[in-house]
Amino acid sequence: MNFVPITLPSHCVTYGIDASTVCIRPLVGKDEEIIVQLGGANTSKKIKSLFESVLQGIPDIGQITAGDVKHILLWEAINSYTPSYPINYICSGCLHQQQVAADLNGVNSVELPSDYSQPKRLKLSLGEVSLRLRTLQDEINLAKYQEENSVSYLFSYAQCIVDSDMDIVQRIEFLSDLPTKDLSLIRRFFVENDHGPDMKCVVHCVQCENEEEIVVPFQFQNVLENATKS
Ligand SMILES: [Zn+2]
Repeated sequence: MNFVPITLPSHCVTYGIDASTVCIRPLVGKDEEIIVQLGGANTSKKIKSLFESVLQGIPDIGQITAGDVKHILLWEAINSYTPSYPINYICSGCLHQQQVAADLNGVNSVELPSDYSQPKRLKLSLGEVSLRLRTLQDEINLAKYQEENSVSYLFSYAQCIVDSDMDIVQRIEFLSDLPTKDLSLIRRFFVENDHGPDMKCVVHCVQCENEEEIVVPFQFQNVLENATKS
């Protein structure tokens, strides 16, 4: 199969590998067998099996950052199908509602700073916390937790706390008692280190020739349907 090099927005800094060794191939029929199953609670699990087959050079696929996951899915949408993504758009200039095709090749991928390292130690009003970026495996664990529990908000952050002295229950308890100002600091860590495609695209109004940048509501599971439109 045709594997080609891919540059990931995380620069692979959290994988402990040489970023230049990572390769990817476009999708084939057997991959669509997985794509048609995407959308439910098992989506992240299915994406992991898809990546195990289309990627080379990353030993632990579960450790792929959430930002890289978005970048890889966008790469597959563009290179295995089409960069043209149909969206409903209301022009802010003339309010004309229309169907336009966003060009996914125009989407910018935000890179993680190349000197990024983790865990990142964060000073809180009550002590300190060490954090790491969210991964594909975290998404899989979160989906499982959501099935078994009614709430998962604090769990999603507790997963990314690096502390060998606390198990996941203790980490959730730690967050439960934390002042909301400290929780904001934790959230800011994820915002500041968010990477991957920003999904912003320039579109042109067919009626008034207005040109504006919008955020494309990209859903990877729509690739099959979109590819049959032209
Ligand atoms: Zn217009």
